[in-house]
Amino acid sequence: MNNAEILAAFYVRRRHYDTYLEANDIHLHTCPGCGFPSLKGRREFFICLVCFWEDDGQDDNAESMLSNLFEGVKISGPNGSLTLTQNRINIGRILEANAELINGEIDLDTARVLKTIAFFQQRLEEIDDRIMGDESPYDHIWTESGEVRKDLQMALVVPKV
Ligand SMILES: [Zn+2]
Repeated sequence: MNNAEILAAFYVRRRHYDTYLEANDIHLHTCPGCGFPSLKGRREFFICLVCFWEDDGQDDNAESMLSNLFEGVKISGPNGSLTLTQNRINIGRILEANAELINGEIDLDTARVLKTIAFFQQRLEEIDDRIMGDESPYDHIWTESGEVRKDLQMALVVPKV
């Protein structure tokens, strides 16, 4: 897939999950960075556990507004110089590679995706609880949480039916 196809897939996926959340009155939000239903609120600087995007409020409109306002200027926010579009491409590539590994596709069964995310959220919270705050940057606990996130990205693709 090229970048345009990855972005197109992002929009389709996000709309698909949004439709389910609305229809079932589930108070979660899709992440502007990856499209998965991973956020408990918007514009509250939650970090998405699927793609690591920090929700600073940018979205489709805000992004184009920001880039118009600050054309050619690097914006420093919680996501540094990473743009929302680039984030969508990056996570799209990771998921695409994961899907290829199992000859699968991104899971569009929203109920199952919500369970998957909740399960990994709990695992990450258990790791967070063990962080004392004095770990070195090389402590195994960072590797562990990184592995759990990779497992989550793998769990979000399923064999083709
Ligand atoms: Zn995300």
